[in-house]
Amino acid sequence: MGLGAGARFTWLGHATFLVETPGKRNLLVDPWVAGNPACPERLKRLPKVDAMLVTHGHFDHLGDAVALAKEHGCPVVSNFETACWLRTKGVETTVEMNKGGTVEVAGVKATMVSADHSCGISDGASIVYGGCAAGYVVTLENGFRFYHAGDTNVFGDMRLIGELYKPDVALLPIGGLYTMGPLEAAQAVKLLGVRKVIPMHFGTFPPLAGRPAELREHCGARVEVLDLKPGDSVE
Ligand SMILES: [Zn+2]
Repeated sequence: MGLGAGARFTWLGHATFLVETPGKRNLLVDPWVAGNPACPERLKRLPKVDAMLVTHGHFDHLGDAVALAKEHGCPVVSNFETACWLRTKGVETTVEMNKGGTVEVAGVKATMVSADHSCGISDGASIVYGGCAAGYVVTLENGFRFYHAGDTNVFGDMRLIGELYKPDVALLPIGGLYTMGPLEAAQAVKLLGVRKVIPMHFGTFPPLAGRPAELREHCGARVEVLDLKPGDSVE
Protein backbone atom coordinates (compact mmCIF):
# COMPACT_ATOMS: atom_id res chain seq x y z
CA MET A 1 0.00 0.00 0.00
CA GLY A 2 1.30 3.43 -0.82
CA LEU A 3 0.17 7.00 -0.50
CA GLY A 4 1.23 8.34 -3.88
CA ALA A 5 2.65 11.27 -1.97
CA GLY A 6 6.02 11.62 -3.70
CA ALA A 7 7.25 11.76 -0.10
CA ARG A 8 8.42 9.22 2.44
CA PHE A 9 6.67 9.00 5.81
CA THR A 10 8.60 7.10 8.47
CA TRP A 11 6.78 6.37 11.71
CA LEU A 12 9.22 6.67 14.61
CA GLY A 13 6.57 5.33 16.98
CA HIS A 14 3.90 7.08 19.06
CA ALA A 15 3.03 10.40 17.34
CA THR A 16 6.47 11.06 15.85
CA PHE A 17 6.87 11.07 12.07
CA LEU A 18 9.84 11.88 9.88
CA VAL A 19 8.64 13.10 6.49
CA GLU A 20 11.10 13.30 3.61
CA THR A 21 9.37 15.80 1.35
CA PRO A 22 9.32 15.78 -2.46
CA GLY A 23 11.90 18.59 -2.24
CA LYS A 24 14.18 16.26 -0.19
CA ARG A 25 13.78 18.17 3.06
CA ASN A 26 13.29 16.38 6.37
CA LEU A 27 10.30 17.41 8.43
CA LEU A 28 9.94 16.00 11.95
CA VAL A 29 6.47 16.08 13.50
CA ASP A 30 6.29 15.80 17.31
CA PRO A 31 9.97 15.36 18.18
CA TRP A 32 10.05 12.56 20.74
CA VAL A 33 12.91 10.32 19.68
CA ALA A 34 15.65 9.60 22.24
CA GLY A 35 13.22 8.84 25.07
CA ASN A 36 10.55 7.28 22.86
CA PRO A 37 10.37 3.58 23.83
CA ALA A 38 8.62 2.75 20.56
CA CYS A 39 11.35 4.28 18.35
CA PRO A 40 13.75 1.66 16.92
CA GLU A 41 17.33 2.31 18.05
CA ARG A 42 18.62 2.47 14.46
CA LEU A 43 16.34 5.47 13.78
CA LYS A 44 17.31 7.50 16.85
CA ARG A 45 20.19 9.01 14.91
CA LEU A 46 18.26 11.29 12.64
CA PRO A 47 19.31 12.71 9.29
CA LYS A 48 19.57 16.51 9.10
CA VAL A 49 16.22 17.86 10.24
CA ASP A 50 15.07 20.92 8.28
CA ALA A 51 12.01 21.79 10.38
CA MET A 52 9.95 20.52 13.29
CA LEU A 53 6.26 20.82 14.00
CA VAL A 54 5.05 20.49 17.60
CA THR A 55 1.34 19.76 18.16
CA HIS A 56 1.34 20.37 21.92
CA GLY A 57 3.47 20.55 25.03
CA HIS A 58 3.19 17.07 26.54
CA PHE A 59 6.52 15.30 26.93
CA ASP A 60 5.61 12.55 24.49
CA HIS A 61 5.39 15.17 21.73
CA LEU A 62 7.77 17.93 22.76
CA GLY A 63 10.31 15.76 24.62
CA ASP A 64 13.32 16.20 22.33
CA ALA A 65 12.41 19.55 20.78
CA VAL A 66 15.00 21.53 22.75
CA ALA A 67 17.90 19.15 22.12
CA LEU A 68 17.09 18.62 18.44
CA ALA A 69 16.51 22.32 17.78
CA LYS A 70 19.97 23.07 19.16
CA GLU A 71 21.56 20.18 17.26
CA HIS A 72 19.95 20.92 13.90
CA GLY A 73 19.42 24.68 14.20
CA CYS A 74 16.10 24.29 12.40
CA PRO A 75 12.80 26.12 12.77
CA VAL A 76 10.47 24.71 15.45
CA VAL A 77 6.83 25.49 14.78
CA SER A 78 4.44 25.56 17.74
CA ASN A 79 1.75 27.65 19.33
CA PHE A 80 2.74 30.97 20.93
CA GLU A 81 2.92 29.75 24.53
CA THR A 82 5.01 26.68 23.75
CA ALA A 83 7.34 28.86 21.64
CA CYS A 84 7.79 31.20 24.64
CA TRP A 85 8.69 28.20 26.82
CA LEU A 86 11.11 26.86 24.20
CA ARG A 87 12.86 30.24 24.18
CA THR A 88 13.32 30.07 27.95
CA LYS A 89 15.23 26.84 27.27
CA GLY A 90 17.55 28.53 24.80
CA VAL A 91 15.87 27.61 21.52
CA GLU A 92 16.42 30.54 19.15
CA THR A 93 14.69 29.13 16.09
CA THR A 94 11.06 29.15 17.26
CA VAL A 95 8.29 29.87 14.78
CA GLU A 96 5.14 30.77 16.65
CA MET A 97 1.62 30.68 15.33
CA ASN A 98 -1.89 29.75 16.30
CA LYS A 99 -4.92 27.99 14.90
CA GLY A 100 -6.00 29.09 11.44
CA GLY A 101 -2.55 30.41 10.60
CA THR A 102 -0.18 29.03 7.99
CA VAL A 103 3.61 29.17 8.00
CA GLU A 104 6.09 28.09 5.36
CA VAL A 105 9.05 26.06 6.62
CA ALA A 106 11.44 23.76 4.75
CA GLY A 107 9.48 24.30 1.54
CA VAL A 108 6.15 23.11 2.93
CA LYS A 109 3.10 24.97 4.22
CA ALA A 110 1.87 24.08 7.69
CA THR A 111 -1.58 25.20 8.81
CA MET A 112 -2.43 24.88 12.49
CA VAL A 113 -5.87 23.42 13.19
CA SER A 114 -7.87 22.59 16.29
CA ALA A 115 -7.46 19.56 18.51
CA ASP A 116 -9.51 18.55 21.53
CA HIS A 117 -6.83 17.89 24.13
CA SER A 118 -4.79 19.57 26.92
CA CYS A 119 -1.35 21.15 26.61
CA GLY A 120 0.51 21.61 29.92
CA ILE A 121 4.31 21.48 29.70
CA SER A 122 6.07 19.46 32.41
CA ASP A 123 8.97 21.56 33.66
CA GLY A 124 10.67 20.05 36.67
CA ALA A 125 7.99 19.42 39.27
CA SER A 126 5.54 21.94 37.82
CA ILE A 127 3.25 22.21 34.81
CA VAL A 128 3.65 25.33 32.67
CA TYR A 129 0.70 26.62 30.65
CA GLY A 130 1.38 25.58 27.07
CA GLY A 131 -1.52 27.17 25.18
CA CYS A 132 -3.95 24.98 23.25
CA ALA A 133 -3.19 21.60 21.77
CA ALA A 134 -3.40 21.59 17.97
CA GLY A 135 -3.02 19.57 14.82
CA TYR A 136 -1.44 20.48 11.47
CA VAL A 137 -2.49 20.26 7.86
CA VAL A 138 0.71 20.19 5.84
CA THR A 139 0.86 20.89 2.11
CA LEU A 140 3.99 19.44 0.53
CA GLU A 141 5.82 21.01 -2.42
CA ASN A 142 3.84 18.86 -4.90
CA GLY A 143 0.45 19.73 -3.38
CA PHE A 144 0.05 16.45 -1.47
CA ARG A 145 -1.60 17.21 1.84
CA PHE A 146 -1.48 15.36 5.13
CA TYR A 147 -3.28 16.00 8.40
CA HIS A 148 -1.48 15.14 11.63
CA ALA A 149 -4.18 15.35 14.28
CA GLY A 150 -1.85 15.53 17.28
CA ASP A 151 -3.57 14.15 20.37
CA THR A 152 -7.29 14.63 20.19
CA ASN A 153 -10.74 13.27 20.68
CA VAL A 154 -13.03 13.34 17.67
CA PHE A 155 -14.81 16.70 17.30
CA GLY A 156 -17.44 17.95 14.90
CA ASP A 157 -15.24 20.59 13.31
CA MET A 158 -13.08 17.88 11.77
CA ARG A 159 -15.72 18.21 9.04
CA LEU A 160 -14.42 21.76 8.46
CA ILE A 161 -10.84 20.50 8.23
CA GLY A 162 -12.02 18.03 5.59
CA GLU A 163 -14.03 20.62 3.65
CA LEU A 164 -11.39 23.33 3.75
CA TYR A 165 -8.18 21.40 3.19
CA LYS A 166 -9.22 18.04 1.71
CA PRO A 167 -6.24 16.14 3.14
CA ASP A 168 -5.01 13.14 1.13
CA VAL A 169 -4.17 11.17 4.26
CA ALA A 170 -4.90 11.57 7.97
CA LEU A 171 -2.53 10.57 10.78
CA LEU A 172 -4.89 9.85 13.67
CA PRO A 173 -4.40 8.73 17.28
CA ILE A 174 -6.29 5.52 18.08
CA GLY A 175 -4.77 4.34 21.38
CA GLY A 176 -7.56 5.50 23.68
CA LEU A 177 -7.19 6.69 27.29
CA TYR A 178 -5.45 10.02 26.49
CA THR A 179 -6.91 10.33 22.98
CA MET A 180 -9.72 8.90 20.92
CA GLY A 181 -9.81 5.18 20.32
CA PRO A 182 -10.77 3.28 17.15
CA LEU A 183 -14.53 3.92 17.46
CA GLU A 184 -14.07 7.69 17.70
CA ALA A 185 -11.31 7.68 15.10
CA ALA A 186 -13.65 5.99 12.62
CA GLN A 187 -16.07 8.88 13.12
CA ALA A 188 -13.14 11.27 12.55
CA VAL A 189 -12.40 9.52 9.26
CA LYS A 190 -16.03 10.04 8.24
CA LEU A 191 -16.00 13.74 9.17
CA LEU A 192 -12.68 14.35 7.42
CA GLY A 193 -13.76 12.50 4.29
CA VAL A 194 -10.33 10.87 3.96
CA ARG A 195 -9.82 7.49 2.30
CA LYS A 196 -6.35 6.82 3.74
CA VAL A 197 -5.42 6.75 7.42
CA ILE A 198 -2.21 6.12 9.29
CA PRO A 199 -3.03 5.18 12.90
CA MET A 200 -0.68 6.44 15.63
CA HIS A 201 -0.44 6.97 19.41
CA PHE A 202 -1.17 3.32 20.21
CA GLY A 203 0.87 0.44 21.65
CA THR A 204 3.64 2.61 23.13
CA PHE A 205 2.39 1.79 26.61
CA PRO A 206 -0.02 -1.03 27.52
CA PRO A 207 -2.99 1.29 28.27
CA LEU A 208 -2.90 2.66 24.70
CA ALA A 209 -4.85 -0.37 23.60
CA GLY A 210 -6.58 0.66 20.35
CA ARG A 211 -5.34 -1.18 17.26
CA PRO A 212 -5.48 -0.56 13.49
CA ALA A 213 -7.55 -3.73 12.96
CA GLU A 214 -10.33 -2.28 15.13
CA LEU A 215 -10.24 0.99 13.23
CA ARG A 216 -10.48 -0.98 9.98
CA GLU A 217 -13.52 -2.85 11.30
CA HIS A 218 -15.27 0.40 12.19
CA CYS A 219 -14.36 2.14 8.93
CA GLY A 220 -15.29 -0.58 6.46
CA ALA A 221 -13.63 -1.51 3.20
CA ARG A 222 -13.70 1.88 1.50
CA VAL A 223 -11.05 3.29 3.84
CA GLU A 224 -7.44 2.20 3.60
CA VAL A 225 -5.96 1.83 7.10
CA LEU A 226 -2.17 1.57 6.89
CA ASP A 227 -0.98 -0.72 9.64
CA LEU A 228 2.59 0.53 10.14
CA LYS A 229 5.02 -0.77 12.73
CA PRO A 230 7.38 1.74 14.39
CA GLY A 231 10.25 2.24 11.98
CA ASP A 232 8.15 1.44 8.88
CA SER A 233 8.07 3.84 5.96
CA VAL A 234 5.41 4.48 3.37
CA GLU A 235 5.75 6.58 0.21
ZN1 LIG B 1 0.40 12.10 23.53
